[in-house]
This record gives sequence, C-alpha cells and structure tokens, in this order.
Amino acid sequence: MIDNRVALVTGGSRGIGRGISLELAKIGYAVLVNFNEDLDAADETRREIEQIGVPVECCQADVTARSHRDLLVEFTMERFGRIDLLVNNAGIAPKVRMDILETEEKTFDKILNTNLRAPYFLTQRVAREMIGLIESKAIDRAFIVNIASLRSYTAAKNYGEYCVSKAGLSMVTKLFAVRLAEFGINVYEISPGLIETDMTLVESVRDYYNAKLAAGMAPINRWGKPEEVGRAVAAIARGDFPFSTGMVLPTDGGFHLREL
Ligand code: NDP
Repeated sequence: MIDNRVALVTGGSRGIGRGISLELAKIGYAVLVNFNEDLDAADETRREIEQIGVPVECCQADVTARSHRDLLVEFTMERFGRIDLLVNNAGIAPKVRMDILETEEKTFDKILNTNLRAPYFLTQRVAREMIGLIESKAIDRAFIVNIASLRSYTAAKNYGEYCVSKAGLSMVTKLFAVRLAEFGINVYEISPGLIETDMTLVESVRDYYNAKLAAGMAPINRWGKPEEVGRAVAAIARGDFPFSTGMVLPTDGGFHLREL
C-alpha cells in the first residue's frame, strides 16, 4: 500500500475532472484518472501529474457498466492498495437540447445512466471497499465528493433529463452521507456554475450563457475555470470539514444567491 492518500476521479482526464486531478495531486494525493474514450486527454493529465511528482495511473472504464466499475476499483486497489477519496465527476449532457415536451426516452436513459445510476452504484462499490480499509485500520477516514450542478435546483425547459439527473445526484449525496457517517466516511457535493470545458464549448450553449452573463446572472459574473472546482475538492480532501457531511459547496460565482 502506498503512503500517499489515493483519489479515484471519474472522468478525471478532461475539463473539470482534469482540474480536480491536478489540484489533488498538488496536495499530495496519488490519482487514479478514469476516462472512457479520450486516451490522449488522459495521457496529457497523467504527464501533468507526473510533473507534480505524485503517483498516477490512468484507467479506461465506462462507469455505466458494472463490470467496468468493478475493474476500475480492482485496478485502483491493485496499483495503490487504498482508496481515500472517490470523486464522482464523469457526466454528459444531451447532444441536442430538446423541449421537455419532446424529450426522447433513449436520451433520458443515457443521461440518467451516466449522471445518476453510475455514481450511485460506484459509490456503493467504493464505499464497501473504504469500509473494509477503515475497519482494518489501513486508512483512518475517507471522503466521497459528487460533482452535481446548478441544474440540481435550477430548471431548464430544454434540458430536462440533465436537470433530473443532477437533482437525483444531490439526493445520492444526502443518502450516502447519512449511511456512511458511522464508518468515518463523509460525503460532499460540489455544485458548479458555468465552467469553461468541452461540455460548454458548444457554440449555441456558449452563446446562451454569454448572453446570460451579459445580463448579469451572478455576483461574480464570469465563467469559472476547472481548477476552481478542483480547489474546492482539494479543500474537502484536506479533511478540513470533519464535522460536516452532506455539505453542498456551490462553486458558481454566487449564482445560487437570491437578490430582491
Ligand atoms: P467534459 O465533457 O469536459 O468531460 C467529461 C468527462 O467525463 C471526460 O473525462 C469523459 O471521458 C468523462 N466521461 C463521460 N462519460 C463517461 C463514462 N461513461 N465513463 C467514464 N467517464 C466518462 O465535462 P465537464 O468537465 O464540463 O463536466 C464534468 C462534470 O461536471 C459533469 O458531471 C458535469 O455534468 C458537471 N458540471 C459541468 C459544468 C460545466 O459548466 N462544464 C457545470 C456544472 C456541472 P472521455 O473524454 O474519455 O469520454
């Protein structure tokens, strides 16, 4: 078993996941970078983490498939011998935004499978591993962080399946926070606002949110960066919130605030 604490970051290869992987590496975590399709992005993240100087491994696994989730956890244990932190970051948006009166079941299932079902069952799988590690005193505590969204609580008429998936993920945070506290596993949620990544690079999406920003949508009225989400995860991963579980940390420039 290695001495570094170990983080398993789903979709840790690109975008927000890469920001999280790098910020965790900077505070001394060894990182298991999961990806699904883009090997080049994973390799680039691996190189950047190697330069920081902590252990890193990449693992291709489609988190929607149970056999892949098992493989991902087994691979992490085989290489590092421990998992101290799971970050459920991998997520997708529908390719075409359709009015909720038109949403197709196939798209709905795909989004729910990736953004909700996968983190639910990966959390279940990893939590069992963490409980064993804590009970055998191999590690003293563990953390789980879910990357939800402002869409957990903000409706979009043409983005229903994504909103439902993120609202469900917020309940996953609550459920596992309640269930795992007795074992010394705290569960947290990061709720990002607009973050510059491939997901939001689509021209129509970028234009839509740029117009919202021009109208003053948030107190800190700009796009966020993946590393800003990464730093929020790192703050949790340092263990500085020992008496907080189920906590939601908005990383959104204050979008969640109401003003009258
Ligand atoms: P990107 O599209 O930039 O990156 C998505 C990442 O998830 C990639 O690493 C991708 O790997 C991985 N991934 C997708 N599907 C799977 C799968 N089935 N199995 C394993 N890995 C998978 O997205 P973002 O970085 O923007 O988003 C990351 C998370 O943050 C998502 O959950 C998203 O919903 C959430 N979020 C994003 C916001 C934003 O403004 N960008 C705002 C709020 C929340 P690969 O490339 O190999 O397919």
